[in-house]
Amino acid sequence: MHIDLRDRTAIVCGASSGIGLGVAESLVEAGANVVLFARRRELLEREAVRLGGIAVAGDVRNPADVERLVATAVEAHGGIDVLVNNSGGPPRMRASELTPERVEDAVALLLLSVVRLTGLCLPYLERCGRGRIVNITSTTVREPIDDLALSNAVRPGVIGWAKSLARELGPKGITVNSIAPGRIDTDRIREVWPDGPSPEDLLAVPLRRLGTPREVGDVVAFLASDRASYITGAVIPVDGGILRSL
Ligand code: NAD
Repeated sequence: MHIDLRDRTAIVCGASSGIGLGVAESLVEAGANVVLFARRRELLEREAVRLGGIAVAGDVRNPADVERLVATAVEAHGGIDVLVNNSGGPPRMRASELTPERVEDAVALLLLSVVRLTGLCLPYLERCGRGRIVNITSTTVREPIDDLALSNAVRPGVIGWAKSLARELGPKGITVNSIAPGRIDTDRIREVWPDGPSPEDLLAVPLRRLGTPREVGDVVAFLASDRASYITGAVIPVDGGILRSL
């Protein structure tokens, strides 16, 4: 099977490192024009040059930044075919430590940002007739992870929104899917586990190792392609089998 994304333009958020960068690499390899968005300008520009993409520096929470992102993509390539919603994760904490302010911050980062950017991209995704939206979430949408209470509380809302949107946009030929990464080898995993995963942590993963950003990116490239034309509203774990739920 050949995944061909030539003549498609993709926006990838959180693309300066980690999963977002792995997604950008996979989309470029499949032939897409990629517009990379993240906060660290220097790093982002370096990766964009390496991949032959366009860098737009900004924060997914900032309305002016994401308006500039969409305008840049449309000006450079005439439209948008693929939107990959992604950013950093919320801070690690227990449910009993949540405050209204912390929940508001997590909602702004994980849910409002996605709703806002998707709304800005929708006219272009509709116009191309085969639009694709892929949200990077977490296995917390299926099973809570201890001490990641903000993720456990807020990310399921992204899935509720995505499934609703998939129902509304299906008749327009747009698919909306979400990835639930397990333990992927990025800076985030070192933020959550400063000492790295213990042997017991890895024993919890049936495939006995961390995943790579490209293993997530390749699934996103498939979902972005015509080969995935009958998949929408899905939550696809890329987790080495760690989720136990049916
Ligand atoms: P990461 O922290 O390693 O990388 C995040 C990327 O997003 C970086 O490029 C960063 O600069 C950018 N970014 C962060 N906040 C941003 C913002 N407000 N605006 C624009 N760009 C921003 O994270 P990752 O491991 O690549 O994970 C990506 C997403 O997937 C995160 O939400 C993370 O919580 C989630 N996730 C990761 C894992 C994992 O094992 N790595 C597992 C489950 C879920």
